[in-house]
Amino acid sequence: MVELVRTESLRRYFAAEKLGLLEKLAGRKQRYIKAVDDVNVVLNKNETTALVGESGSGKTTLGRMLATLDTPTSGKIFYSGVELNEDALESVRHKVQIVFQNPYESLDPRMSIRQIIEEALTRYGGDDRAGRVKEVLEAVGLNYSDIHYRKARDLYGGQRQRVAVARAMAANPEFIVLDEPTSALDASVQSQVLNLLVQLKKQYGYTYLFITHNMMVARYISDRIYIMYAGKVVEAGLSEEVFTDPFHPYTKLLMESVPSLEPTARLEPMKGEAPSLLNPPPGCRFSPRCPYAFDRCFKEEPRLHLVGQRLVACHLFEDRERRNFRQSSFMLLAETAVWRTGTWGPWPLAGRSC
Ligand code: SF4
Repeated sequence: MVELVRTESLRRYFAAEKLGLLEKLAGRKQRYIKAVDDVNVVLNKNETTALVGESGSGKTTLGRMLATLDTPTSGKIFYSGVELNEDALESVRHKVQIVFQNPYESLDPRMSIRQIIEEALTRYGGDDRAGRVKEVLEAVGLNYSDIHYRKARDLYGGQRQRVAVARAMAANPEFIVLDEPTSALDASVQSQVLNLLVQLKKQYGYTYLFITHNMMVARYISDRIYIMYAGKVVEAGLSEEVFTDPFHPYTKLLMESVPSLEPTARLEPMKGEAPSLLNPPPGCRFSPRCPYAFDRCFKEEPRLHLVGQRLVACHLFEDRERRNFRQSSFMLLAETAVWRTGTWGPWPLAGRSC
């Protein structure tokens, strides 16, 4: 496992309103929407990391910052161990690409497919542009001769999204942010595009950040998963482990919204409402919706901490961890005593040889 991207205490706040001079003089305080609030993630090379959460959880804002399209309010992003400050940014930009959710909006409908891909090559490409356009179109399963002269507006959704992937590939990137790349497509086309992305990752060794609100899509495509709620990471771990045994109550709720194991299944609406990012609830941001909430949850914000191999931000697991630790320490002492004396307290251990 080699780390490619890492963030440290990343924040992105947006001003909720523009204050006039009079309001400033009157001492009115600027309010902020805390879209991403103190987030640490690590993405490993050649892995697909899914970023999952409801709309408004901050996942797209985080993805845009990692794709170098937006600047953090505070915190740091490291790419291959180098901090992305202004000097480093230009040398990294071509290595990082993004595919947007809606290919009907992300491709200029008046441009030909060849022009769309050549445009991406203008900044970063080599000498043989025509050759590269052909190469990437064929890599995404499109026939160059049939398609290069056509306009984006003349293509179907699946074809458009393949062109968007080809455009991202043109500059030979290492890291691609995929922002809900299949959610605007028909169910039958969704699985074709997902399979294509899996195959391209194997072939070219890409690292993906796959943003989605669909847990089954995340399960199908990802090696690792981060769950975001109201601007915070609440759970992270290996995908298979998180799906087999979700720890955080919000992860469980997300799982319940999936009626079938098919990546293209329709999702049930989630219970309860996501909190305001302008004025999040005190303590745990999930507390108004959490069926397990207890007193402490309404006062104290849970910190993200390790539970086994998993990162979880929930007081239940802090307590469980402490209990487990106490139990394991107690058992270790007890086992040692038994091993030394052959007895459990004052009682001999029948049938146990020590
Ligand atoms: Fe629920 Fe409390 Fe855990 Fe938050 S900290 S998820 S409210 S149990």
